[in-house]
Amino acid sequence: MADQSLLFSRIVTDLPETVPFVPPEELERKTGVKIRLRLGANESSFGMSPLAREAMANSLGENHLYGDALSFDLKEELAARHGIGKEMITVAGGIDELLGWIARVFLNPGEPVTASLGSYPTFHYHVAGFGGRLHQVPYRKGKNDLDALADTARHTGSRIVYLANPDNPTGTWFTADELKEFRRQLPADCLLLLDEAYIEFAPEKAHFPVDPADPGVIRTRTFSKAHGMAGLRVGYAFAHREIITAFDKIRNHFGVSRIAQTGALAALKDEGFVRQVVREVAAGRREYEAVAKTLGFTAYPSATNFVAIDTGDANRAAAIREALWQRGVFIRIPGVAPLNRCLRVSVGTPAERQEFVRILREVVQEL
Ligand SMILES: *Cc1c(COP(=O)(O)O)cnc(C)c1O
Repeated sequence: MADQSLLFSRIVTDLPETVPFVPPEELERKTGVKIRLRLGANESSFGMSPLAREAMANSLGENHLYGDALSFDLKEELAARHGIGKEMITVAGGIDELLGWIARVFLNPGEPVTASLGSYPTFHYHVAGFGGRLHQVPYRKGKNDLDALADTARHTGSRIVYLANPDNPTGTWFTADELKEFRRQLPADCLLLLDEAYIEFAPEKAHFPVDPADPGVIRTRTFSKAHGMAGLRVGYAFAHREIITAFDKIRNHFGVSRIAQTGALAALKDEGFVRQVVREVAAGRREYEAVAKTLGFTAYPSATNFVAIDTGDANRAAAIREALWQRGVFIRIPGVAPLNRCLRVSVGTPAERQEFVRILREVVQEL
């Protein structure tokens, strides 16, 4: 019999047999545990805007139609809100899909990129999938090390530097001024990929300004976090018009469903809803920070919808996660040292937080 693997491309043949994300559903199936507190994937416990829900309910009967392949209305609304031209915006099935487009558009096989060691893994996954080479820079004092990232980008000749601002999994953030300085340090032919999945939760001074003339920055955003629509799969990017044109050459044109476009458009218009979510999440973060302190742990300062709680020891963190899981509490631990001393916990509703804190105290006491 022919060896099937001979049919695969060289890139795919060389990829490791790993699954980058084990979904919580699979963990349930594998362990027989039923999740009662789902606080491990930074999904929004606050759901989505009632206006978005209503708009989507009203459009259910249109699902025999493809979505607008240009996402015209959604792009128009985004353009108006951000004071930029529509030609600087693309819409995709979430940031995760955009990260794949970016790797495909900018990387030739074998070319290098730079990212932090232990940062959001989907970018790394797509880089590998398109045959790129990833250079990783350790976090420093719980934050992305901007100087080291720029250094590594320079000496490796990286085509792309990936940076999430605010960051996942630490929750930390940089100001626009710090990012501008970072941008200046990068080589002219190195793209800054700024992943702004959590930007709605961040203070105004963390917002990197859009420069329509700068072909060296792409910013990715999503409806999955503050807007509470992770399951719907909608994200977007701001970039130079020529980059947007390049995406048009390779993207899945009907990849954003009609109902997703409808929901996202309605969600954008409900600013009050997002403001309330952001306020509620900030209050929740303060609760987690206080609890971390009483347990002798430290919480990283976060501008996201989760908090990374440093337990000081990777084994302790692993034991806590396992004990939480046995009680039906799903959280995650960052995969790479030294961040693997941390419990990464999404900010739940007040009731969820109360329950989480009660169980966490119990678990820490027992260990
Ligand atoms: C959640 C997350 C994403 C995924 O966004 P989607 O739009 O749901 O694909 C991307 N980047 C970071 C840093 C995230 O935390």
